[in-house]
Amino acid sequence: MAAARMGLKTALYTLNVDLIAQMSCNPAVGGIAKGHLVREVDALGGIMGEVTDAVGIQFRLLNTSRGPAVWSPRAQCDKQAYRLKMREVLESQPNLKIKQAEVAELIVESSQLSALSSQPAYGGTAALGCPAERSSASQSPSATCHSEERSDEESAFPNDHRPTTNDRVLGIRLRDGRTVGAQAVIITTGTFLNGLIHCGEQQYPAGRSGEPNAVLLGEALKNLGLRHCRLKTGTPPRLDGRSIDWSRFAEQPGDPDPTPFSFRTKKVAHHDRQVHCYIAFTTAETHRIIRENVHRSPMYSGQIKSVGPRYCPSIEDKIVKFPDKTTHQLFLEPEGLNTHEIYVNGMSTSLPVEVQLEILKSIPGLETAEMLRPGYAIEYDSIDPTELERTLETKKITGLFLAGQINGTSGYEEAACQGLMAGINAALKVKGEPPLILDRTEAYTAILIDDLISKGTNEPYRMFTSRAEFRLHLRIDNADRRLTPHGRRVGLISDAAWNEYLAKQQRLASLKQLLERTKLTADMLESIQHFSTQPSTHVGTAALGCPAEQSSASPSAYCHPERSASERSSAVEGPAVSANGDEPTTADYSSALGQLLAQLLKRPEITIELLIPILRQMQPEFFAENTSVVSSQLRNELKSVETEIKYAGYLHQQQKAIERLKKAEQRQIPDWFDYGIVSGLSREMKEKLLKVRPRTLAQASSIPGVTPAAVSLVNVYIEIQARRREQATTLSS
Ligand SMILES: Cc1cc2nc3c(=O)[nH]c(=O)nc-3n(C[C@H](O)[C@H](O)[C@H](O)COP(=O)(O)OP(=O)(O)OC[C@H]3O[C@@H](n4cnc5c(N)ncnc54)[C@H](O)[C@@H]3O)c2cc1C
Repeated sequence: MAAARMGLKTALYTLNVDLIAQMSCNPAVGGIAKGHLVREVDALGGIMGEVTDAVGIQFRLLNTSRGPAVWSPRAQCDKQAYRLKMREVLESQPNLKIKQAEVAELIVESSQLSALSSQPAYGGTAALGCPAERSSASQSPSATCHSEERSDEESAFPNDHRPTTNDRVLGIRLRDGRTVGAQAVIITTGTFLNGLIHCGEQQYPAGRSGEPNAVLLGEALKNLGLRHCRLKTGTPPRLDGRSIDWSRFAEQPGDPDPTPFSFRTKKVAHHDRQVHCYIAFTTAETHRIIRENVHRSPMYSGQIKSVGPRYCPSIEDKIVKFPDKTTHQLFLEPEGLNTHEIYVNGMSTSLPVEVQLEILKSIPGLETAEMLRPGYAIEYDSIDPTELERTLETKKITGLFLAGQINGTSGYEEAACQGLMAGINAALKVKGEPPLILDRTEAYTAILIDDLISKGTNEPYRMFTSRAEFRLHLRIDNADRRLTPHGRRVGLISDAAWNEYLAKQQRLASLKQLLERTKLTADMLESIQHFSTQPSTHVGTAALGCPAEQSSASPSAYCHPERSASERSSAVEGPAVSANGDEPTTADYSSALGQLLAQLLKRPEITIELLIPILRQMQPEFFAENTSVVSSQLRNELKSVETEIKYAGYLHQQQKAIERLKKAEQRQIPDWFDYGIVSGLSREMKEKLLKVRPRTLAQASSIPGVTPAAVSLVNVYIEIQARRREQATTLSS
């Protein structure tokens, strides 16, 4: 999508066009840290947020009882509608063709062969994604570049983001023998490469339930010499809602005023028609059944050897790993508005079907539940992400990009942000423009890519806010300020969206100024004190209509990090805006008379909602379309200003730390620096650094394959070697 929007002729190959954007597992988007990723995708011009707003059937803003750094939106989607909407959006995109075919191989020109011949060599691999399409049979005249045009890679990658070999991708070969020329190929095969489903003792090849796997492409990638891993994931059974006794479960409603994912959405489509989810619990009987049958789970029988997502363990894993826990929470979640299918969140399993049925019967309310589809586990091939550059281009093959689950990640959101970044960078490369490389201090997307390419992963990688060094800076409310200018630069933000973005920034700045200039008068004080005795004027969880979050201490919360407050609170997220939820405040603020409103807002118990009547009078244009009720969009803008003021101290501290870090990156590497004696630096790193001899640490970190860990070692050794030189000079004089 990104490549097409950036003006390139793009083709998307998939095994089944009817299943584009099929949600393989839980039809839910967002959750802690994952919601941040979706906001970032949206801010850069991606489509996941808007599509979710159009098809979400329950929205909740998680973690509002904690600091704003960890607030995160989550939506239960209509699974079928998500797929259809996504296809509609893709099909309406100029420059994008959608094709159903199996990609069997990549066409790769090898450096050795190209030295001998100008004919392409056909390496054994495959591809899909959004290559600039150029059928080899009838070459499209509008294909943006030809392979010959890419000879001057210096100009395309002035910052030395070039792959380390000269092998390059020329296109893809389909299973039926057709070839398609492309200047860049992005592979996003999810769990399809050599996928193998396990359900009890049964195992069969599949990409996911009901779909064939992709063996040819999997083998082809191995033949190209890309290091691969074997990972595993799983899914729970689905039930027929008509056979469930709903009276036995606690309801979990959505927020009364849903928070959209997209900065461009004014109101989510199902704002007034949200559905409930329900909370269920396992019983002692459930645990007995699982304990007695755990040897039949492929995980425990040794049938599955690969590693699954640690933060989303199977129900059998939970019983084994938390033997003292007498019950585990489950969530019954509707899969859509036009279906009775129910997803049992928290019960991912690969136990045999008959054991799954027994387990369900042991849960009060599910005694007569009909199972529509059993749970299963799937093993699949992924590629070691240390094979990748920061652009998500492979180091070994120029023009070949990988994104999504194939890179070892675990969820939709992690896949989406990579797909977007790979699309952007593939397009920039084809256009001969510098790549878009985000910094860890400006986006979770950058943290994910940085972690993957520098450390690799031996289990499906999931995003957490705790992975960020400066998370108060990486909030959901400021993702647009952090990233929309990048999206605009690369051509993904339309004029209308850009103008709206600029107008919003202006509104926020003027509101902030107003709060920083205005002193509290007696009339204002009266209004605040009157308003503060009304319930629901705080942004505690309950005030937003969100049910209380699950306790972070519970293994159930640990097992559903996407739904719950499972991450530890810390100073860097800032204290909670309102510690006491919707408790009316009765404090006397007369001592604050004459203080600036911004100063007053720094008090933990004062929220911006209390100031709304005052602001409404002082800046009516801000509330123009919100005569009585404050819309979620306006509320989010107000909260954003509040956060900037309330946590100004923390933000300032973090900004200083970021500046120190950036300064360190500008640090000069002296000419005399000896990479040979830096212990802990791998031979590969030493060779790369010696070859380029970077002048600064920033330059060192931009060398393809040089990891942040290697750069920090060099940083430390500059000090050590400088001291040794000083000592040697003193001794010799
Ligand atoms: C059983 C299971 C449970 C999961 N549970 C969750 C969960 O609870 N939460 C969560 O966030 N994520 C979950 N995931 C993961 C989530 O589905 C993926 O992370 C996400 O969809 C990955 O996106 P992707 O674009 O990388 O691949 P996918 O969405 O899997 O898309 C892969 C695409 O590649 C196409 N393809 C593959 N090979 C070829 C080929 N050779 N030629 C042409 N086309 C090809 C397929 O047709 C498909 O369209 C689960 C996945 C599975 C299978």
